[in-house]
Amino acid sequence: MILPSHLTIKDDHLTIREHDMVALADRFGTPLYVTDEDRIAWNYHQYHEALTSRYPDIRILYAAKANGNLAVLRVLASLGAGADVFSSGELHLALAAGMKPASLLFNGSSKSPPDLALAVEKGVPVSVDSLDELHQLDAVAGVAGKKAEIAFRVNPALDVPTHPKIATGLATSKFGIAHNLIPAAYREALACDHIVPAGIHCHIGSQILSVEPFARACEVMIRIAAEISDIGVHLKFIDLGGGLGIPYHRSEDRAPTPAEYAEAVVPVFRKGIEAAGITPSLWVEPGRSLVADSTVLLTRVNSIKKAHRTFVNVDAGFNLLIRPAMYDAYHEVIAANKAGREGTTLCTVAGPICETGDILAFDRLLPDPCAGDTLALLDCGAYGFAMSSQYNSRPRCPEVMLRGDAAALMRRGETISDLTCTMQNLPWQERS
Ligand SMILES: *Cc1c(COP(=O)(O)O)cnc(C)c1O
Repeated sequence: MILPSHLTIKDDHLTIREHDMVALADRFGTPLYVTDEDRIAWNYHQYHEALTSRYPDIRILYAAKANGNLAVLRVLASLGAGADVFSSGELHLALAAGMKPASLLFNGSSKSPPDLALAVEKGVPVSVDSLDELHQLDAVAGVAGKKAEIAFRVNPALDVPTHPKIATGLATSKFGIAHNLIPAAYREALACDHIVPAGIHCHIGSQILSVEPFARACEVMIRIAAEISDIGVHLKFIDLGGGLGIPYHRSEDRAPTPAEYAEAVVPVFRKGIEAAGITPSLWVEPGRSLVADSTVLLTRVNSIKKAHRTFVNVDAGFNLLIRPAMYDAYHEVIAANKAGREGTTLCTVAGPICETGDILAFDRLLPDPCAGDTLALLDCGAYGFAMSSQYNSRPRCPEVMLRGDAAALMRRGETISDLTCTMQNLPWQERS
């Protein structure tokens, strides 16, 4: 297996730089999410360098839904990132992390009246997903006596090679407005009293392992940008969304680097805007490719069961990492306490949840698995903890952040009282 450069094996233990994963599991308990701040910063710099070296006026909006821990948002804020926020909660977190309202974009296909009011109040640009939403936003801004900056979310009707649950730019997806209806939408926006059309937005999907679909999406966006500029829209930004994949199959996959992404997209962008005579800022919204590989999920083996297959029963399940169950996703598994040893036994890594589908990994070779081993699931920093739940009444696990040689909790583990603290005693039930 080819490990990312911040992961190494030292004295048979898996380490993130100098940090021993077995020691961290002992210190903080398992299950445990461990995130490397230095890796997030490195990933951000790759993007920043790749884009700014090809076009100076860019903005990186981190897709906050990938990992919404405030500590992660603060790291990215301090590096200069804005954020793609998809809910009022994400908007509040991004502001709390120190991001400026103008560096956010409020995305989403189904925003509530309070969502729209919050965006207007804070001055956060909105990616508008329907004409109904446009007019609601216009009204909300009118009541507040403000103007709302918007982009329309374009559905470019592109078939993108990824899992169907994360392809968002198909003609049949719930997201965006069909590309052929976009110029009419901008005309309607120009006629609104409290709307300022400022940008244009798309996002074609997630975990995309080829740069070609991004270049095609950019072509569509540039074509529309030229068209709407002609009808009087002054475009401040063109936002191409996120979606660059990562090599979850560490031995087989090859994911494009941010430099390869930029090399495919920026020339298309530049050529298009030069032809149209416009100078918008180029925005991108990476989520997974900024944070996924920064994080491992550590889980302890409770028991081994030799049945029709060898089950390695661990203490983390789809309550903490739902990607295998939801997307048939693959995460590499390393026995952190025997990391230097060859795999001997074909294992199925199973979680503790009362569901047949609670399998984290199928058919992996692990070295002589036994109770007490610490397994590390790699590449869990995106859509990992962020999609966790308390299903089966399991308190969520803690999250630790590493920076240099320091390690600290960025989220404490939940306790049993965290399970009950929002529950109410009904007046007609006697308390025992
Ligand atoms: C999810 C999402 C992203 C980020 O996608 P990744 O695959 O994590 O890079 C960006 N923009 C929008 C609108 C999204 O919904």
